[in-house]
Amino acid sequence: MTGGVVSSLGKGLASAALGALLQERGYSVRICKLDPYLNVDPGTMSPFQHGEVYVTDDGAETDLDLGHYERFTGRPATQKDNTTTGRIYLSVLQKERRGDYLGATIQVIPHITNEIKDFIREKDGSADFVICEIGGTIGDIEGLPFLEAIRQFGNEVGRDRALFIHMTLLPYIPTAGELKTKPTQHSVKELMSAGIRPNILLCRADRAIEKDELAKIALFCNLDANRVIPALDASSIYEVPLTYHAEGLDDQVMNAFGITDSEKPDLSKWEEIVHRVKEPEGEVTIAIVGKYTNLTDSYKSLNEALTHGGIANNVKVKLQFVDASEFDGHEDDIVSVLKNANGILVPGGFGSRGTEGKIKAVQYARENNVPYFGICLGMQMAVIEAARNLCGLKGASSTEFGECKHPVVGLMTEWVRGNKKEERSEGSDLGGTMRLGAYPASLKDGSQISGIYGTHELSERHRHRYEVNINYKDQLEKEGCLFAGLSPDGELPETCERPDHPWFIGVQFHPELKSKPFDPHPLFVSFIDAAVHQSRLV
Ligand code: GLN
Repeated sequence: MTGGVVSSLGKGLASAALGALLQERGYSVRICKLDPYLNVDPGTMSPFQHGEVYVTDDGAETDLDLGHYERFTGRPATQKDNTTTGRIYLSVLQKERRGDYLGATIQVIPHITNEIKDFIREKDGSADFVICEIGGTIGDIEGLPFLEAIRQFGNEVGRDRALFIHMTLLPYIPTAGELKTKPTQHSVKELMSAGIRPNILLCRADRAIEKDELAKIALFCNLDANRVIPALDASSIYEVPLTYHAEGLDDQVMNAFGITDSEKPDLSKWEEIVHRVKEPEGEVTIAIVGKYTNLTDSYKSLNEALTHGGIANNVKVKLQFVDASEFDGHEDDIVSVLKNANGILVPGGFGSRGTEGKIKAVQYARENNVPYFGICLGMQMAVIEAARNLCGLKGASSTEFGECKHPVVGLMTEWVRGNKKEERSEGSDLGGTMRLGAYPASLKDGSQISGIYGTHELSERHRHRYEVNINYKDQLEKEGCLFAGLSPDGELPETCERPDHPWFIGVQFHPELKSKPFDPHPLFVSFIDAAVHQSRLV
C-alpha cells in the first residue's frame, strides 16, 4: 500500500479496513508499517508532530497506524510490525560492525533493500496475507529504498502473489466544478518510474467520482476500470470497511490474486457498529484535560476507546478538549470550563506544564462526584491531589517536575517482569528508560476495578518513567484512595479508586490501547456508563 499526491490520505485506515475485510472472508492477516523517517522508533518524537505513540504488548513504541490495524483486525500488533529507515540502517550497521558481511561493500542495494525485504517476509508463515503500508508519499527521497525493496519483493514472489495498491487524491477545484485526475496520473507515473505498476488504485475524494472520470484514470494509468476504486470520505472510520467493500475492493483483491473460491465476507459486525455510531440514543460530554489537545491525533487511541465506550452504551460521546497549560498561573479558572462535563479524563502526558490545572480538575471531579478517569499521568495527578488536599502533605508532587518535599510519585530504578528484574538508570538512552509494554497486576477482591474487569489479574500496556511511591500507600488509603491493583510483587501501585465516589479510577497503564469497536474495553464501557448516570442527575 503506497500513497501519492499528498500525505494524510488515510493509508493506515485503508490498510486496516482491507485487513478487516480479508479477515471477514476467513483469512489471517498481518499488517505492517514501514516508515521512511530516520528515528529508530517514534518514541522520542513529539506527539505534536507525529501524533500518538502506540505501544505494543512486547513493549515497542510504534506508529499510531498500528493502533488502527489492531482496532480493526483484533490482532495484537508486535515489535515486528513496524520499522523505520533508522531501524533498518541501525541493524545493517550493527551487522557491518560485527563483520557479518565478510568485508563486502555495504550499499543501499542490496544490503538495505534486503533488510527491508526481510522485515516484510512472514517468518513463521502464519498469515495468509501480509499488508505492508509504506509511509510517506511517492516522490519522497526517503521512500526510495522502500519502493525498490517492494519492487524486488514483488518480482521475487511472482505476480500472482504480490499486489500493489496505490492510494491517491482527486482534489475538487471549485472554479472548474470538478474533481481533477491529473495529480493521480502523475503519481502513478512516478511509481512506474520506480518500476512498480499499481494493480489497484484507491482514489480519495470528498464527493462522488463520475463513471467517466474513473474510466479516464483507468485509461491513463493502464488499469481495468473495476480496479480504480473510489474511496470517499466517510462520516465514521468504522464505515470504511463497508464502503470499500461496496466499491469492490476485496473482490478486486481476490480477483488480482486469482482466488475464485472465496466467499463474500459477513459484515454484520461492522454494520451493527456503524448503526450504533450513527443512531445513538443519547449523548454525554467527556472533558479531556490534557496538553496536546489541539492535535487530536495525539490522543488517537483514547478518542477511539471513548467512542467504543459510547457504542457499548448506545450513546454519542462528545469530546471536550481542555488544554490545561492554558491555565498555568490561574489554575482555579479551569473549573469554569468543566461545568458541563459528565465525566472528566486526564490522559497520559509528560512534563510539568499544565499539571497544576490537571490537579485542580481532579479535585473538582472528586468533590463534585463527577466521574473521573485518570490514565497514567492522570492517575499520578489523582494521587498528588489526594496527598495534598486530603493527607495534608503540602509539598506533595512528582519528581518529574523537580525536587519536592513529598515525592508521592517518583523514579523507580528497577522493577520486576516475570522472574526478571529490569533496570533503568539516569544515564541510559531516553528511549530506553521507560517501563514499556504489557505488565500484569493483581486486583483486590471486591474492589470496583476487579468488578469491572471481572477478574483478579489483568495485563495492560505501560509507557511511563515514574511510579506512584508505595511508601505513601497507607497514608493515602486512610484518606480513601484505595490501591486495588498492584504489581504481583506488591511494589508498584497499578490502579487507584475511591470507594466514596460514584466513579473515580486511576490506572498507571494505557487501557485505551487495547479497546476495539467490537470488543470495547471494560473500563471505558463502565466510565461512559457512569457518565450517562451523571448526565441524568443534572
Ligand atoms: N510522565 C509520566 C511518567 O513518565 C506519565 C507518563 C504517561 O502518562 N504516559 O511516568
